[in-house]
Amino acid sequence: MRICITNVLMTPGVTTQKDIPFIQDAQIHIVDHLIVYAGARTDAPAFEADEVIDGHGGLAMPGLCNMHTHTPMTLLRSIGSDLRLERWLNDAIFPVERHLTDEAVRAGTDLGIMEMLRFGTTSFNDMYMHMDMVAEGVRDSGMRAMLGHGVVDFDESCTDLIPGIAFAKKWHGSSNDRIRVSLAPHSEGATTEKVLRQIKQAADEMDLTVHIHVSETKLDRNECIERRGVTPPHYLEQQGLLERPVLAAHCVWLEEDEIELFAKRNVTIVHNPISNLKLASGIAPIARMLESGCKIALGTDGVASNNNLNMWEEIKLMPMLQKGNTLDPTVVSPAQTIAAATSVGASALGYDNLGLIKEGYLADIIIVAIDGAHICPCNDLQSDLVYSIQGSDVQMTMVDGKVLYHEGKYTTLDPKAVIARAKAEAALLFERANNEK
Ligand SMILES: [Zn+2]
Repeated sequence: MRICITNVLMTPGVTTQKDIPFIQDAQIHIVDHLIVYAGARTDAPAFEADEVIDGHGGLAMPGLCNMHTHTPMTLLRSIGSDLRLERWLNDAIFPVERHLTDEAVRAGTDLGIMEMLRFGTTSFNDMYMHMDMVAEGVRDSGMRAMLGHGVVDFDESCTDLIPGIAFAKKWHGSSNDRIRVSLAPHSEGATTEKVLRQIKQAADEMDLTVHIHVSETKLDRNECIERRGVTPPHYLEQQGLLERPVLAAHCVWLEEDEIELFAKRNVTIVHNPISNLKLASGIAPIARMLESGCKIALGTDGVASNNNLNMWEEIKLMPMLQKGNTLDPTVVSPAQTIAAATSVGASALGYDNLGLIKEGYLADIIIVAIDGAHICPCNDLQSDLVYSIQGSDVQMTMVDGKVLYHEGKYTTLDPKAVIARAKAEAALLFERANNEK
């Protein structure tokens, strides 16, 4: 398939940490899953396209990467609202999650992917259970994702690692390499030293990324110090895990020495500002982390603590929170924010040609309308991109060279069927959970 996106304003994405460049009247040529030209329309080589997308009034930019979520939790949207994290998990989430089935997880996955595509997310990083169903949802929808079976281990049996490794063997690199697999120990508190050692060994053998929750709450940090004598980042270092590429979700409670350790070890910290606020976990010191050279990506976390998968809300909040917290409006630039939502996440997924609109890169591209009243008159596009644009402005979402969403229409999902199945599976799920009470 040869696609030409023309007559569009374009940003190739964040190529330096300082500025977001824009090209007026741009054109993009795509052959199969790769971008073969991206630049000024007047400089474009001759190109015969099967499909031409007129991007008039829009901005073409790299697709968003939601780097920490639990997609099937869409079925648990808004339950246990306004509870503290420990009570929210134990009283609201776990009693329902116990009753998840393959069918429920698949229905929740499709619903999540439908929402993500609508808001311009082209790839996501997930940790959950019944992961074959999530992988099938990614495979069938055309989405891109890194998926991991969430490993818990309280008794040193390490039995939960077995499905995690089997899942990696089955799916890593599948669907034209749209699916990548991580090993995903849930957190320091939900795993043993023994299982972490085994995860390190398996990750080495299969060359996999490790995805883990780190210091989400003050309690997580304090309990780790009590149990292990060190904070979670130093504990992960002791277990050798930081020798692997690591995606560390949350990192709300990190001190200077831990930030420096993560910077030195090239860990990608995934900031989930809304979830951290809603569960009253705190505000991660992102400005300080960026200053120390940490890699920062953005995520929504699961819908149950957000309560949606709209990355534009995270984009706006990330710099806002740091400005308010440090009383310094110069911290966290639009370029740093858009990089966190695009290129930093894309490279943490393990691709070296994802996250920019550039020749040779994978065609994960979105078009965002910029002719709305809330963006007019486009005085400062960098600022508009972070603070003015809404998720609903996304007009087109392309993953791996395939248009998956365009002006309200999905090409691989039937929205009415997805919603009906999600509602039916949610009803069955809550019925099973209530029957147990
Ligand atoms: Zn999480």
